Amino acid sequence: MRYKGFESIDNEGQKELRLVFPDGLDRHFFARMYCRGELMDRAGGDPELIWRSLSSNFNNIKLVAPHQVHGTHVIPADSSFALPLRPEADGVMIVPGSDSLASLRFADCCPVVIASDSPVPWMLMLHSGFAGTAKNIVRSALSSISGWYGEAMGKRTYGWTGPCICKECYSRKKDDPSTINALKIYSPANHFEKNGMIHFDISGEIRSQLMQCGLPYDNIFAVGDCTYCDNDFYYSFRAGDERSRIFLLGGNTTKEA
Ligand SMILES: [Zn+2]
Repeated sequence: MRYKGFESIDNEGQKELRLVFPDGLDRHFFARMYCRGELMDRAGGDPELIWRSLSSNFNNIKLVAPHQVHGTHVIPADSSFALPLRPEADGVMIVPGSDSLASLRFADCCPVVIASDSPVPWMLMLHSGFAGTAKNIVRSALSSISGWYGEAMGKRTYGWTGPCICKECYSRKKDDPSTINALKIYSPANHFEKNGMIHFDISGEIRSQLMQCGLPYDNIFAVGDCTYCDNDFYYSFRAGDERSRIFLLGGNTTKEA
């Protein structure tokens, strides 16, 4: 499976999806997703265990790994927030001066990375599942960037959405209060009813949100795979992966080994 904006790698039984950054941004940032594999199986979703295995590849730099709560709070990739601390947040902001790497974990929710060189280089990593997308963490995080002024800046900004549960696999009970709330928020193009259940297209809604924030369609790269349908490659909570997670790691290229 090949997707524009991503490069797929098999590193001794550990599958990785690396984000391909456009010229210019690639000097500043890197980001990759560790998918199903021996290392992630062994770590069981624990970022401390994951980092114990990986940190030597990154000069033993500190790692920010927030306790994810399906909210919209974003913290900086700064050592004052790093492991062993687990501050509550669903986003991490990286700038060229960040002294730590950033990480988030996923098993059906959507990994989102947004990066730009405008007005100065920055990269956001976000955890946007059904709930985070209903809260529009994308817009909330972008509006916190100083000088964000929509379209002109959007042209110089790129977005990536990683593997998440697809609209065919993600259904919810019609009378669930969260479903009723989300139906008021998700664009009609990104939900439908089938067999008495409401299906939501989480990554489709995130693309809509990125475009509403001013990113052109062509600046958004999406992994079309579903964590549930393609469970051989990814972890899916709904498919029975209770502990292991897809691990999104990113930061300054200077910190990469
Ligand atoms: Zn699916």
